[in-house]
Amino acid sequence: MKKRVLVTGGAGFLGSHLCTRLINKGHEVICLDNYFTGNKKNILHLMDSPFFELIRHDVSFPISLEVDEIYNLACPASPPHYQFDPIQTTKTSVLGAINMLDLAKKCKAKILQASTSEVYGDPEIHPQPESYRGAVNTIGIRACYDEGKRCAESLFFDYHRQYAVDIKVMRIFNTYGPNMNPEDGRVVSNFIVQALKGEDITIYGDGLQTRSFCYVDDLIDGMMRLMNSADDFTGPVNIGNPDEFTMLELAQKVIELTGSESQIIYQPLPQDDPMQRQPIISLAKQELDWEPKIKLSEGLNKTIEYFKKQL
Ligand code: NAD
Ligand code: UDP
Repeated sequence: MKKRVLVTGGAGFLGSHLCTRLINKGHEVICLDNYFTGNKKNILHLMDSPFFELIRHDVSFPISLEVDEIYNLACPASPPHYQFDPIQTTKTSVLGAINMLDLAKKCKAKILQASTSEVYGDPEIHPQPESYRGAVNTIGIRACYDEGKRCAESLFFDYHRQYAVDIKVMRIFNTYGPNMNPEDGRVVSNFIVQALKGEDITIYGDGLQTRSFCYVDDLIDGMMRLMNSADDFTGPVNIGNPDEFTMLELAQKVIELTGSESQIIYQPLPQDDPMQRQPIISLAKQELDWEPKIKLSEGLNKTIEYFKKQL
């Protein structure tokens, strides 16, 4: 059935892939973005569609629309960007959640929140199940993002209990792929851009910290399955690829796949940088029949091709 779908943060990395998939499925899409980290170039190919609309708006202010579904993705996701104006980051997460939940309540729309593995902070439990409550430094430089997202999760469940709003909460683990901003500052885009330009590859700390990287197509598949999941399934649910790598292994893989002559250099580890991260995805398998299909090398090759065209 054709639906009218609002995607906040739709001009960003994940949002632009989601908009494309929704349009391809025959839905009407309203993309809302303030272009803080997003780019119109990511959605340029959709502009000619009569079913695609673009609104420049900041989610920390209310808006009135008629929609059937809302994917709430608006929020800078890379540490340098969310730390650039940390107070605005908290407002985007918290006021953005309130405004989008009020909209969902008013028009009886189903709403999905792009939450994050960052709600687990620097986890003492490894790998992380949804039941783990996390270890976040509430006064650290990552708190604007982590606590903003944690508060947004609380708001989603309170609107669900208090007003019966139909919610879906997704905890996204590190995702990469085409449409990442080359200046984004996240590790995959940094390493690929550095390798392609022949610049030094910057590892923060000793490079032994780990992350588990999911290719964007798998992630968006999980996100849409969650939106369409059983009415009584709210999540939170982890969506990510459990294959875990150290940042040193990632750097070596990027050098190998690009054939670059870049050297690895070591820079200080930022404050509160999590040491390890890997999702347990049994809940996603059980409730959404979802698991990632794309291996790191395959996904990196697609991403490298994208950045070659950009540079
Ligand atoms: P991104 O920075 O590429 O996209 C975020 C988008 O939101 C951008 O287009 C930006 O301009 C927009 N935006 C920011 N503040 C806004 C505001 N106040 N009002 C309107 N628009 C605003 O990041 P992404 O990787 O695409 O992440 C999308 C969502 O997924 C974010 O909520 C992020 O927290 C979440 N997430 C992403 C990852 C990941 O690895 N990519 C991991 C965990 C969670
Ligand atoms: N990182 C790195 N070099 C870079 C960028 C990031 O070594 O140029 C490290 C960073 O310190 C962290 C990991 O890579 O340990 C993942 O960083 P990213 O910002 O991509 O995601 P997050 O820390 O939010 O998971």
